[in-house]
Amino acid sequence: MTIDTKTLTELKEALLTEKAELESNLGRIAKPTDGEYVTTFDEVGNDREDNATEVEEYTDNLPVEQALEKKLHEVNAALARMENGTYGFCDNCKQEIAIERLQANPSAQTCIKC
Ligand SMILES: [Zn+2]
Repeated sequence: MTIDTKTLTELKEALLTEKAELESNLGRIAKPTDGEYVTTFDEVGNDREDNATEVEEYTDNLPVEQALEKKLHEVNAALARMENGTYGFCDNCKQEIAIERLQANPSAQTCIKC
């Protein structure tokens, strides 16, 4: 691999920061259950308007939660690839991913062409 140690360390730090942010965002809208995140839907008030608002928030949170979880999986996968030395290679064509692309998106799994 052609990524130097300094850049790799920076990318790893970026991934770990992103992971912590994703987990804290997920923690705000969801609760971990058996390792998976389930959107919370508690504190349903008795007031009809309150309930309507909470149902709206609940449905609004679902796509956000799914997007966050997907991203978290990508970040974890990137960290795992760093561990086993396959980080920085395109999942599709197995060519090296441009360093600029990794710096813009450290969890990128494919090269710019794919
Ligand atoms: Zn590729």
